[in-house]
Amino acid sequence: MASGERTIPAPQATLETQPFWEAAAAGRLLIKKCTSCAQLHYYPRAICPFCFSEATEWVPASGRGTIYSYSVMRRVPVAYAIAYVTLAEGVTMMTNIVDCDLDAIRIGQTVQVVFKATAGGPPVPMFAPV
Ligand SMILES: [Zn+2]
Repeated sequence: MASGERTIPAPQATLETQPFWEAAAAGRLLIKKCTSCAQLHYYPRAICPFCFSEATEWVPASGRGTIYSYSVMRRVPVAYAIAYVTLAEGVTMMTNIVDCDLDAIRIGQTVQVVFKATAGGPPVPMFAPV
């Protein structure tokens, strides 16, 4: 287990991302789907990054993914791992890997979303090895 708990700053919710944070508070991970080109994207945007359509909708993600790359930040009071996780749905999120031995993290590892409390804001999605 990691030693100590890191204080996670509150995310900056905007009108565009408000439903995402409301879902996170309820323990659900949402991503965006474009109804024009059917592509999924993350982070959530009002305009599809692929075809620039405004016809995007929120869809639930499984919360399962694999570690695409990661970096352990050690020159801080409480070490932590930042990572890119590719969800089962195919989109990649920049996130943290938590609840594990930082030395045991491996690229390609299967991870599951967990929601971590922040300082005065909604919980943020992070990932723990399965
Ligand atoms: Zn599109």
